[in-house]
Amino acid sequence: MKRIYLSPPHLGEQEIHKVNEVFKSNWIAPLGPEVDGFEQDLQELFDGSYVAVLSSGTAAIHLALILCGTKPGDEVICQSLTFSGSAYPITYTGAHPIFIDSEDNTWNIDPEYLEIAIKNRLKKGKKPKAIIPVHLYGMPASMSKIIEISKLYSIPIIEDAAEALGSKYFDKKCGSIGDYGILSFNGNKIITTSGGGALISSDISVINRAKFLATQARDPAPHYEHSQIGFNYRMSNVIAAIGRGQLKLLEDRIQSRRANFDRYKAYFDAKNKLGYCIKWLDEKKGFFSNRWLTTILIEPKKNNGISREKLWLAFEEKNIESRPVWKPMHMQPVFKDALYFGETVAESIFNHGLCLPSGTNMTEEDWERIFDVLDSIFK
Ligand SMILES: *Cc1c(COP(=O)(O)O)cnc(C)c1O
Repeated sequence: MKRIYLSPPHLGEQEIHKVNEVFKSNWIAPLGPEVDGFEQDLQELFDGSYVAVLSSGTAAIHLALILCGTKPGDEVICQSLTFSGSAYPITYTGAHPIFIDSEDNTWNIDPEYLEIAIKNRLKKGKKPKAIIPVHLYGMPASMSKIIEISKLYSIPIIEDAAEALGSKYFDKKCGSIGDYGILSFNGNKIITTSGGGALISSDISVINRAKFLATQARDPAPHYEHSQIGFNYRMSNVIAAIGRGQLKLLEDRIQSRRANFDRYKAYFDAKNKLGYCIKWLDEKKGFFSNRWLTTILIEPKKNNGISREKLWLAFEEKNIESRPVWKPMHMQPVFKDALYFGETVAESIFNHGLCLPSGTNMTEEDWERIFDVLDSIFK
């Protein structure tokens, strides 16, 4: 039986032709017309914002932190319930992360604890350099409250939209709400370039500066002249061609991911009517999720002893990939010394949460295998 993956790449017909054209033109270099073209396409999507395409989402967060002026010894606030890529770049700058708990109705950064943390740090004479909220699994964070706090204390927002391309918060597209936004085109994301990312800003000078730093900080001169440290963080022209083909499919992919969610929800709704208590996240008013991954919470006490582990194992036995919800950063060994503000919301989501197979190229046979496993558990 072939393995059903959590979120495999799903390429269309166009990408290979675009890559062929790049080969024919011999633009096998970092930078080139496809990089410019991919940036223009993304700028059109994020109407009015400016975009730099980069080697990864992690690189985009690193550059955003540098652009915020983050220096060794500084502090940066970050949502705890996220993928490590949100938090690692804080340490690249020599700064310390401060982690914040989640709200249970978005799973994202809790604005109340965000403000408590800021007040605490200000009292200690430490003003955080940036706030990194995440739209986890595609569900928007409560941005209005986060922006209010960001303005009140004048701390910029780096919006991690790595999992939320196509998600919307009221009339705004996720990624273009904060002072800086970042995207990822890693292989498991809703669209992919195999690996890649982007930085978004409404300020063109920010984006120009990001492009400068991402191409080894070359000062204008006929020879290589450098007055500061740079990075090799630019996206390659070959990869950008894949991205341009993928971006055309985004609307279709969002619809498929949302259809996956609806299908699971209808199934669990029916099970809950029989006495189970399986939970999922509904969209609050004005929230639009791309439903990148469908996630559920199963507490054994309320579900006849069925745990997240039991379901995960049952899937594995049938060669189907599911995955526990991301383990919060404040619980990770590598961040054991980091400050944390909150209670146990993120921890409890981690303890009971499971990400279900959410690819957009699943066949009816794949679905049958998935529902057979679920039927064997939720009898
Ligand atoms: C994938 C991801 C990143 C990192 O993006 P890469 O392109 O893999 O470096 C950062 N944050 C979140 C929430 C992610 O899911």
